[in-house]
Amino acid sequence: MCLFCKIVNKESSADIVYKNDKFLVFKDIQPKAPIHLLIVPKKHIPSINHLNLQDKELIGEMFLVAQTIAKNQGLNKKGYRLIINVGKEAGQIIDHLHLHLLGGWERSEKLKVKN
Ligand code: AMP
Ligand code: ZN
Repeated sequence: MCLFCKIVNKESSADIVYKNDKFLVFKDIQPKAPIHLLIVPKKHIPSINHLNLQDKELIGEMFLVAQTIAKNQGLNKKGYRLIINVGKEAGQIIDHLHLHLLGGWERSEKLKVKN
Protein backbone atom coordinates (compact mmCIF):
# COMPACT_ATOMS: atom_id res chain seq x y z
CA MET A 1 0.00 0.00 0.00
CA CYS A 2 1.34 3.48 -0.83
CA LEU A 3 2.15 6.06 1.85
CA PHE A 4 -0.87 8.25 1.12
CA CYS A 5 -3.20 5.19 1.16
CA LYS A 6 -1.71 4.38 4.58
CA ILE A 7 -2.53 7.93 5.75
CA VAL A 8 -6.07 7.54 4.37
CA ASN A 9 -6.35 4.20 6.24
CA LYS A 10 -4.90 5.73 9.42
CA GLU A 11 -1.93 3.35 9.34
CA SER A 12 0.35 6.36 9.03
CA SER A 13 -0.11 9.71 10.72
CA ALA A 14 -0.37 13.14 9.15
CA ASP A 15 -1.31 16.63 10.25
CA ILE A 16 -4.81 16.62 8.77
CA VAL A 17 -6.48 20.01 8.31
CA TYR A 18 -9.62 18.90 6.45
CA LYS A 19 -11.42 15.76 5.41
CA ASN A 20 -14.63 14.76 3.72
CA ASP A 21 -15.91 11.51 2.22
CA LYS A 22 -13.58 11.67 -0.81
CA PHE A 23 -10.58 13.77 0.22
CA LEU A 24 -7.98 14.32 2.89
CA VAL A 25 -5.99 17.52 3.21
CA PHE A 26 -2.82 17.47 5.30
CA LYS A 27 0.33 19.49 5.84
CA ASP A 28 3.31 18.67 3.68
CA ILE A 29 6.04 17.22 5.90
CA GLN A 30 8.72 19.26 4.07
CA PRO A 31 6.92 22.54 3.40
CA LYS A 32 8.18 24.63 0.50
CA ALA A 33 6.06 27.64 1.47
CA PRO A 34 4.72 29.07 4.76
CA ILE A 35 1.48 27.21 3.98
CA HIS A 36 1.99 23.96 2.07
CA LEU A 37 -0.91 21.53 2.03
CA LEU A 38 -1.60 18.40 0.03
CA ILE A 39 -5.10 17.72 -1.27
CA VAL A 40 -5.33 13.95 -1.62
CA PRO A 41 -8.22 11.95 -3.08
CA LYS A 42 -8.88 8.88 -0.91
CA LYS A 43 -9.04 6.81 -4.09
CA HIS A 44 -5.64 5.49 -5.16
CA ILE A 45 -4.91 6.98 -8.57
CA PRO A 46 -1.14 6.88 -9.26
CA SER A 47 -0.97 10.11 -11.29
CA ILE A 48 -2.73 12.33 -13.81
CA ASN A 49 -1.52 9.83 -16.43
CA HIS A 50 -3.78 7.23 -14.84
CA LEU A 51 -7.03 9.21 -14.84
CA ASN A 52 -10.11 7.64 -16.36
CA LEU A 53 -13.27 9.28 -17.63
CA GLN A 54 -15.07 8.17 -14.46
CA ASP A 55 -12.62 10.24 -12.40
CA LYS A 56 -13.65 13.54 -14.00
CA GLU A 57 -16.08 14.46 -11.23
CA LEU A 58 -13.52 13.60 -8.55
CA ILE A 59 -10.91 15.83 -10.20
CA GLY A 60 -13.38 18.69 -10.42
CA GLU A 61 -14.13 18.23 -6.73
CA MET A 62 -10.41 18.23 -5.93
CA PHE A 63 -10.21 21.83 -7.18
CA LEU A 64 -13.34 22.80 -5.27
CA VAL A 65 -11.69 21.39 -2.11
CA ALA A 66 -8.64 23.53 -2.95
CA GLN A 67 -10.88 26.58 -3.22
CA THR A 68 -12.46 25.82 0.18
CA ILE A 69 -9.09 25.24 1.85
CA ALA A 70 -7.61 28.41 0.35
CA LYS A 71 -10.51 30.36 1.80
CA ASN A 72 -10.19 28.63 5.21
CA GLN A 73 -6.49 29.49 5.26
CA GLY A 74 -7.19 33.11 4.34
CA LEU A 75 -5.41 32.80 1.00
CA ASN A 76 -8.27 33.39 -1.39
CA LYS A 77 -7.63 37.13 -1.67
CA LYS A 78 -3.83 37.03 -1.32
CA GLY A 79 -3.30 34.30 -3.87
CA TYR A 80 -1.87 30.82 -3.84
CA ARG A 81 -0.42 28.19 -6.11
CA LEU A 82 -1.83 24.82 -7.08
CA ILE A 83 0.69 22.34 -8.42
CA ILE A 84 0.49 18.76 -9.64
CA ASN A 85 3.73 16.95 -10.44
CA VAL A 86 3.31 14.18 -13.01
CA GLY A 87 6.05 11.57 -13.20
CA LYS A 88 9.53 11.30 -11.75
CA GLU A 89 11.22 13.86 -13.99
CA ALA A 90 8.67 16.46 -12.92
CA GLY A 91 9.41 15.67 -9.26
CA GLN A 92 6.57 13.31 -8.41
CA ILE A 93 7.86 11.15 -5.55
CA ILE A 94 4.56 9.81 -4.18
CA ASP A 95 2.66 7.74 -6.72
CA HIS A 96 -0.77 8.70 -5.40
CA LEU A 97 -2.39 11.70 -7.06
CA HIS A 98 -2.23 14.89 -5.01
CA LEU A 99 -2.61 18.60 -5.50
CA HIS A 100 -0.12 20.88 -3.75
CA LEU A 101 -1.54 24.13 -2.35
CA LEU A 102 1.16 26.68 -1.54
CA GLY A 103 0.86 30.18 -0.17
CA GLY A 104 1.36 32.55 2.70
CA TRP A 105 4.54 34.19 1.45
CA GLU A 106 5.65 37.65 2.40
CA ARG A 107 5.74 39.98 -0.60
CA SER A 108 9.54 39.84 -1.02
CA GLU A 109 9.60 36.04 -0.60
CA LYS A 110 6.95 35.60 -3.27
CA LEU A 111 9.10 37.32 -5.89
CA LYS A 112 11.88 34.79 -5.26
CA VAL A 113 9.70 31.82 -6.10
CA LYS A 114 8.08 33.42 -9.13
CA ASN A 115 8.80 31.54 -12.38
P1 AMP B 1 5.36 15.03 -5.04
O1 AMP B 1 6.82 15.36 -5.10
O2 AMP B 1 4.52 15.89 -5.95
O3 AMP B 1 5.10 13.55 -5.23
O4 AMP B 1 4.88 15.43 -3.61
C1 AMP B 1 4.97 14.57 -2.50
C2 AMP B 1 5.00 15.44 -1.28
O5 AMP B 1 4.67 14.63 -0.18
C3 AMP B 1 6.36 16.08 -1.00
O6 AMP B 1 6.23 17.49 -1.00
C4 AMP B 1 6.73 15.52 0.38
O7 AMP B 1 7.36 16.48 1.20
C5 AMP B 1 5.38 15.10 0.93
N1 AMP B 1 5.40 14.04 1.92
C6 AMP B 1 6.13 12.89 1.90
N2 AMP B 1 5.84 12.13 2.97
C7 AMP B 1 4.90 12.80 3.68
C8 AMP B 1 4.19 12.54 4.88
N3 AMP B 1 4.38 11.41 5.59
N4 AMP B 1 3.31 13.45 5.33
C9 AMP B 1 3.11 14.59 4.63
N5 AMP B 1 3.73 14.90 3.48
C10 AMP B 1 4.62 14.02 3.01
ZN1 ZN C 1 -2.30 5.29 -2.68
